[in-house]
Amino acid sequence: MSNINGWDYMDNRGYVMAGLAFLLIIPAVILSVMLINMVNMDESTNNMIKSDILGHISSDFEASIPDFTREVLRENTANVVRNGQPIKNSRMVIRNEVQAKIDDLKKEYLKYTDVSIQCQIKSVDSASDPYQIQIESNIIVSKHNNSINRNISQNIPFTVSESKNNGSLDESKISDPLPFIKTKEYGGVSVDGDRIKYGSSLSNYLKSKGINNSHVYENASSPLYFKQCPYDPYSSHGKCNMLFNLKNCVDNGYYHKSADGACILCRLEGKATCNHFGLETFIIPSMNTRSEIIAPCSIDHVIFSENGPDGYGTYPGKIVEFQCSTNSSNRLFLDDGHRNKYGIIM
Ligand SMILES: [Zn+2]
Ligand SMILES: [Zn+2]
Repeated sequence: MSNINGWDYMDNRGYVMAGLAFLLIIPAVILSVMLINMVNMDESTNNMIKSDILGHISSDFEASIPDFTREVLRENTANVVRNGQPIKNSRMVIRNEVQAKIDDLKKEYLKYTDVSIQCQIKSVDSASDPYQIQIESNIIVSKHNNSINRNISQNIPFTVSESKNNGSLDESKISDPLPFIKTKEYGGVSVDGDRIKYGSSLSNYLKSKGINNSHVYENASSPLYFKQCPYDPYSSHGKCNMLFNLKNCVDNGYYHKSADGACILCRLEGKATCNHFGLETFIIPSMNTRSEIIAPCSIDHVIFSENGPDGYGTYPGKIVEFQCSTNSSNRLFLDDGHRNKYGIIM
């Protein structure tokens, strides 16, 4: 009986082994089928490549340029934020770095296809819309007698709109490099959330140029990221009771289009003003400073301007108080030109 039991046992064990082996075979079969399918996919892909691949490759490179450009802009502004060093010839630096990323993409493509690809970033420059930069490129994709040759001009936005901004990572936003460059030798700045805190550096910077009432900018702050102001026309900043729109604009750290303020590419070079259509934002004096009626105008390109016979182009503004309550008043200083621009009639 024990023998029979023994054989039974062996038999059962044999079935178990066979069952296990079968279970192991199933994934192998599935894998084989998948491999066969992949080979079939490759064949169908090859057919597609033959008919339409040139257009697809050209479109892929075109679509990659904006992403690469924003990535390069982010990397460069992040470097300036870290070290306060201006970038000499930012247009050329950004062009070369976007080209390097395009060349890497091309290498990836050439692993899988024998199509000839040329994608040349011809130029990087300020766009007519200062919330964008303009990239000119040329893409040539060819195989045998077929070829596509396209000159492309792209206007690439670098600001994050308020709705897209929600929940996104800070790394996805592009910082304003200018305050980091301008204050480097005066104590630098710190970052607090999405604002730049100047500590004593801005008042030291203004004081070093002999500008009156520079102490008003002790512990001043300004926005860290480029955000487009939605209060357009700008004169609507001054339209509401207690300058509520102006307060919201300041609280959200918006930037405005400006004929005088520098564009992002010139900001990277440490310039507060330039000949391109650019941007401006408010630099907010601390609420704790002594009350003054006249102080340097609270517009960033006015504060940081170095165009003038004495090495600065900073000019004064009159006080604008907004959203006052019994124990706090927000204030900034604006000259007549900027009061007019933002609709602040006082
Ligand atoms: Zn605004
Ligand atoms: Zn510029």
